[in-house]
Amino acid sequence: MNQTPDKTEILGWLRETNPERLAELWRRADGTRRQHVGDAVHLRGLVEISNHCARQCAYCGLRAGNENLARYRMLADEIFESAQQAVKFGYGTVVLQAGEDYGIAAEWLAEIIRRIKSETPLAVTLSLGERPDKDLAAWRAAGADRYLLRFETSDRNLFDEIHPPLGNRKCNRIAILRRLREFGFEVGSGIMVGIPGQTYASVANDIALFRELDLDMVGIGPFIPHPATPLGCGFKIFPSVNGEQVPNSELMVYKAVALTRLVRPDANIPATTALATINKKNGRELGLQRGANVFMPNLTPPKYRRLYEIYPNKACIAETGDACNGCLSLRIKDIGRHIGSGQGGRKKHQTGTALPAEKELCHA
Ligand code: SF4
Repeated sequence: MNQTPDKTEILGWLRETNPERLAELWRRADGTRRQHVGDAVHLRGLVEISNHCARQCAYCGLRAGNENLARYRMLADEIFESAQQAVKFGYGTVVLQAGEDYGIAAEWLAEIIRRIKSETPLAVTLSLGERPDKDLAAWRAAGADRYLLRFETSDRNLFDEIHPPLGNRKCNRIAILRRLREFGFEVGSGIMVGIPGQTYASVANDIALFRELDLDMVGIGPFIPHPATPLGCGFKIFPSVNGEQVPNSELMVYKAVALTRLVRPDANIPATTALATINKKNGRELGLQRGANVFMPNLTPPKYRRLYEIYPNKACIAETGDACNGCLSLRIKDIGRHIGSGQGGRKKHQTGTALPAEKELCHA
């Protein structure tokens, strides 16, 4: 097999069950990771700045329709203090994440980004949903470096089935990802593995799309529906896909991570919290040994952390930032890797990418 498998080969690996053959996949992914991004594990401090969301995704505990969830939005000073904690722990990046919360005004957040960029050495990554171009441009102009927006599945019908549009706005995350690139962001995306109705061929298409989009960051997690959602309570049932359903298993996530490393050799790929949720003992370590090179320790203040429950039994929900930092540092050392220094961006972007000349912006 080539280092960069084509779609047929990707499909073959997704169906593979022989442990000896899979050991070969893990070895290839780990070797590609070492060759292209080295042994450093970069730490991104995750701050879940708001659990408000305007959307109704059929699996997510933050969906607007979940009326049993107490909502919060962090104060500007609280966000900045969390960023300072990232500096204290030696992290190179702070990730500001929220539901699609239009209570987060573009200029309010731009001011916070400017403060973090001027008073700390941190890279700023945003993960705030399908915001209009003018908001994305304002945040990029304020100094934000990266943006994460998972397309979740490249199967358009399946995507539409579980991600109802907001009002009459047609959603096109692939188009938004391309515009994020035009604005000069490093661009991240990713998928869930094991969505009801998701086939092996569909996941192979997703992984091929990571390559086509030349993504800088790719996050992959198992599909875990929250019980207070249509998919989590069994209200929404999908037709059978005739034995082609991809399981939402730990093994399938490792396969997707490993194949992603082969198609995007120099991307930053996290061993996700969702992976740690389905294998709390060593899911993250196995992710790191099968293609991943990033951890995202949680810096959300403990009083908010338990309210950011996208899916149930989320790992690290009761820990403090200090506890997460200590735990993850030990896990990295235990597998013979070391903590990366600096911002840990994709190498080809490390000299900085200029914001394109101002132009008329279309809206998502
Ligand atoms: S997946 Fe994201 S956009 Fe959808 S309901 Fe959850 S937080 Fe909102």
